Amino acid sequence: RIVYVNGAYLPEEEAKISVFDRGFIFGDGIYEVSAVIGGKLVDCEAHLARLERSCGEIRLGLPWSKAELVAIHQELIKRNNLDEGGIYLQVSRGASDRDFPFPKDVQPTLVMFTQARNFVNAPTAKTGIKVVSTPDLRWARRDIKSVNLLAPVLAKQFALESGAQEAWLTEDGVVTEGASSTAWIVKGKTLISRPLSNKVLPGITRKAVLAYLAESGFTFEEREFTLEEALDAEEAFITSATSLVMPVTTIDGHTIHNGAPGPTALRLREIYIDYARKGGVL
Ligand code: PLP
Repeated sequence: RIVYVNGAYLPEEEAKISVFDRGFIFGDGIYEVSAVIGGKLVDCEAHLARLERSCGEIRLGLPWSKAELVAIHQELIKRNNLDEGGIYLQVSRGASDRDFPFPKDVQPTLVMFTQARNFVNAPTAKTGIKVVSTPDLRWARRDIKSVNLLAPVLAKQFALESGAQEAWLTEDGVVTEGASSTAWIVKGKTLISRPLSNKVLPGITRKAVLAYLAESGFTFEEREFTLEEALDAEEAFITSATSLVMPVTTIDGHTIHNGAPGPTALRLREIYIDYARKGGVL
């Protein structure tokens, strides 16, 4: 695999960053993951807009323009012959002797790499995924896509060890979101997902799903929902750049929609994949 690190395209074995990198030492960095489907970047503009916002919130000045970042994405797709998969981007405040305050005159570190994956024909799209709930242990600024992912790592490991594929994080009985996805439930023709705030990451896939909702004949109710309500829902699903729209068939061992993917989630997935194949344009 050819990866990008600080201006260079290198075989992954040769790509190196400093042991003093603040992303590594403090988790002082931001990341993005965008999908490539049929060789095309999906919603790249929106991911880069969120990157800029996250960096702004932690006062990390990005020396690269959006156009430069898009060009690196494209170059990585080309050099890795990537038809389908993810592109991971991480920017940190750079490398400097370990000290908490921002270092002076230090260039941010930019690392990007591809991961070839089958998103569209993922076997879980046919079976749905199992979800388990676990307390949300994250910090108070979950709207910032920071590289501090210890709580989601523990939540995902818990899910795996419970025979599930995703964890739904809960706070005071309410589902905040998935460990790495937006959580949704369905009642009739209504989709329910919580409002954006500092408590959740504003999902790019969430936004795309909402953009085509009206013409798909569904309505959106933007509100919090409890785990209890989710257990009783007609359908449940998650959205994210890499899971696209993924049906949920059990929550904490309770069967949703008779344990089969629901028609709403499957229809939204189909529409989203059409949208993604066009590069994320309605
Ligand atoms: N929420 C969290 C905590 C995430 O980590 C992610 C994606 O990784 C999402 C939601 C979904 O965001 P997106 O649709 O932009 O991938």
